[in-house]
This record gives sequence, structure tokens and C-alpha cells, in this order.
Amino acid sequence: MSDNKTVQDSCQEKSEADRVVRFLFEDSAVRGVWVNLQKSCADMLALKACSPASGILLGESVAAAVLLSCTVKLQGRVAIQARGDGALKLLVAESTQDAAVRGVINLDAGVAAKNMPPLQQLIGNGYLAVTLLPDEGESYQGIVPLQGARLQDCLADYFALSEQLPTALWLVSDGERAAGLMLQAMPTINREDAGWQHLHVLANTITNEELLSLPCESLLHRLFHQETVRIFDAEPVLFQCTCSDSRSRHALAVLGRDELHKLFMEQPDVTIDCQFCGAQYHYKENDMADILGESSTSLH
Ligand SMILES: [Zn+2]
Repeated sequence: MSDNKTVQDSCQEKSEADRVVRFLFEDSAVRGVWVNLQKSCADMLALKACSPASGILLGESVAAAVLLSCTVKLQGRVAIQARGDGALKLLVAESTQDAAVRGVINLDAGVAAKNMPPLQQLIGNGYLAVTLLPDEGESYQGIVPLQGARLQDCLADYFALSEQLPTALWLVSDGERAAGLMLQAMPTINREDAGWQHLHVLANTITNEELLSLPCESLLHRLFHQETVRIFDAEPVLFQCTCSDSRSRHALAVLGRDELHKLFMEQPDVTIDCQFCGAQYHYKENDMADILGESSTSLH
């Protein structure tokens, strides 16, 4: 018997690396996103001396950031951030609306990649947050509960609490590549909905190897071959830092005239290091007027 899957805009099976694909179930009020990161993940990790555990945690976090960026209506960036006094001091994984990703992690080198401790233990006293960073206007930060052992469980709890939308995520990384799958119910149904529960059970049969290796269409067919799934155009994912000279100048400008003056008195050459990509931006005292927007020649 042939299956009844309609593939509206099928993704190319061969060039599925570094792609994000949205899909929806025609007969249930459930939508989904799939993401695969290969070169984007490798490029990001190549800039840092990452332990295997760091690579895995950062890879999964960046995959999650892309999935989240597909579910919020926002012109800007979505960030997953953790800070703490445990083995995980800092984690930032960001994705723009166009799936340009970047990330940084500070995890003790002693943490083994196998049987990683639960996130709460890794963070210690600290927090995990989802932050929406619109290009214009105020950012919004939501604290993620840390009951779940893994990031995917914590984020599912976050959606259930904050958006009241049944959501499930599967994240995987081998420290070089990363992938993720997310299912989310539409606001019209709740977690008791039989359609949602059915799809959740099916998706839960996914293995890490399948998620990391299978092309989107094959994976959806493997999980949901009796469902009618509409698959949308794949979009590229790439590693790209959003740092720039003008953002660095803005960061200095918020210090205010007096603090900035003091800074240049102490350090004639002020350097701003981008923690994500390693780029350096240098400023001297005679840049001050321009930084503060007081220069008549400024184009800003
Ligand atoms: Zn940068």
C-alpha cells in the first residue's frame, strides 16, 4: 500500500546538511521543525578549543535556538543562555530569524561527554533562560525550569508553562554535528488531545543516530508514514556572527561620556573582543566623539 504523505516542496535528500525545515500535519493541529547543523556547527566549534562535552552541549543548544527561532514571530535573535557557579559557567547559543547561528560555552574540561550530569547540576547556582532579542525594542527573558535532566526536557517544560503550548523537542549532537526536531501543538488543542499524544508517541521512537543522520524527509517518513505531512521549503543554516564595529561602538556609548573618558585615560587602546567569533574591535580616544554620536561627520 502506498503511503499518503504529500510532499509539497520536498527537500533535496542529498543536500540536507545545514538546513532547517518546517512541516505541519494536515490532520492534526500540530506543526514541527527539523534542523541539521554540520558545517555551521563545525565552523562555530573550530574557533574554540572545545572539549567533547562542550561541543555536544553547545551543538544541542544551537540546534534548539534555531528550532525556537522558528516558533516566535520576531525580527531579531533568540538566545538560550545559562550562567552558573557549577561546571557550566556560561552558555550562550543564538539564532537569528534567518538561522544564522553563533554560540559560546565555558564548561569545565573535566566534564565527560558520556553520561553528562543533569543541567541543574552542571549549572549549580544560576539559571537557564530563553531570551528574545528583537532588532528594535526591548529584549524579553524567560527563565527555564531546570527539572528536566537534559536541555530538551527543560525547554519542553518552558513552553508548557510560558506559552501553554504542548511542545516536545529532541536534540542531539556528537560534538561535531547537531540536529533537532520539535513538535508543537497549535493553541486550539491541549496536551490531552489524542492527535497530539499520538504524534508525540510516534516521534518519541526516534533514535539519536536517526536524528543526526537521516535527511528530513526520510526521518518524517520513518516516524509518521501514516500521517499526511506537509513539508515546506528547506532554509539554510549558517554560522555567522552578528558582531560589528557599530555594535561595539554602541556598547561603548552606553557607558556614557564620563565613564568612556575614564576608560580611554586608563587604556589608550580600548579593545572589544567578540566572545563568539574572536573578532577584535579597536578604539582610540579620538573615536570618542563618533562613539557618542557627537561627531559632525558621523553618518549614524
Ligand atoms: Zn563576533
